[in-house]
Amino acid sequence: MRIGIPSTLAYYEYFPFWDVFFRELGFDVVSSPITTKAILDWGVKHTVSDACVPIKLIHGHVRALAEEGVDFIFLPRMVSVAPKETFCPKFLGLPDLIQASINNLPPMLSPRIYLRFGRMSLFRICGQTARSLGASRIKGLRACAKALDAWHAFLRSIRQGLTVAEALGLRQRTGTALRGPRLALLGYPYLINDPFISANLLGLLEERGVQVLTAEMVPSEDLKRLSRSMRKNLFWHYSNRVVWAAMYYLDKEMVDGVIHVTAFGCGPDAMVGKLVELEAKGKVPFTTLSLDEHTGQEGIITRIDAFVDMLVRKKVSA
Ligand code: SF4
Repeated sequence: MRIGIPSTLAYYEYFPFWDVFFRELGFDVVSSPITTKAILDWGVKHTVSDACVPIKLIHGHVRALAEEGVDFIFLPRMVSVAPKETFCPKFLGLPDLIQASINNLPPMLSPRIYLRFGRMSLFRICGQTARSLGASRIKGLRACAKALDAWHAFLRSIRQGLTVAEALGLRQRTGTALRGPRLALLGYPYLINDPFISANLLGLLEERGVQVLTAEMVPSEDLKRLSRSMRKNLFWHYSNRVVWAAMYYLDKEMVDGVIHVTAFGCGPDAMVGKLVELEAKGKVPFTTLSLDEHTGQEGIITRIDAFVDMLVRKKVSA
């Protein structure tokens, strides 16, 4: 039996967990191919027009898995993995949205991920998911423990300086000497690490010798500390991490500039972008890169060349 996992959205945070979990249960795991123009175009055509580009994109990825002939599609309903926050509403309704938009899909496996009681809730969800696939609950619990080990190893590799794309094996560094400015590249992992939708932003920055720091590289204890220091946090999981990461890098004076990467049409980012900009104001230069289905690499190159040149000149004249 083959389980298909779309390689976008929560994939960039949780694929190493679910990959090991399903393999331990005896399934073959198939992830959709990396984003291509055909996948994006299909998603754009079959999604409501006012959706953000990552939501359009996942429609194309699910379709690619269906064409691949997998037996199940795994698309969990991501509700909450930490106290007092949820995933963006589009994540909450995603399984319904996909089923309403795409015909003739293989059966969809969509456990509700709401970790109200932390690990205990996760083990319960894994036990139930195993049962729904015909495996025993005990086997599900054992698979969950192994999957957690794999996920922690993935997180450790990121804290040690890999980007999510590198930790997932989606890209490799070219070995270019990184002697340029240090940049906080802040945005949702499913935007920054998708080489197609980001127009290979990580590669372009590496070619220019820029050292990139992302939100996922900030130690989780520091994120928790920063969350407690805020009078009020945002409601959304990924949005909070972007804001806290900006505070972390700017408080510690670790970066020469900040780029906020946003998806055109993203509701939460209207607030996130402003908060990050205010955090950077008077400290380091800040710019925003907005991505959508029409984003071309030339536009991105022009923007980052101008920004990186300005940072280099600023450093030389300091
Ligand atoms: S957080 Fe923004 S970009 Fe991500 S799914 Fe929600 S609306 Fe789209």
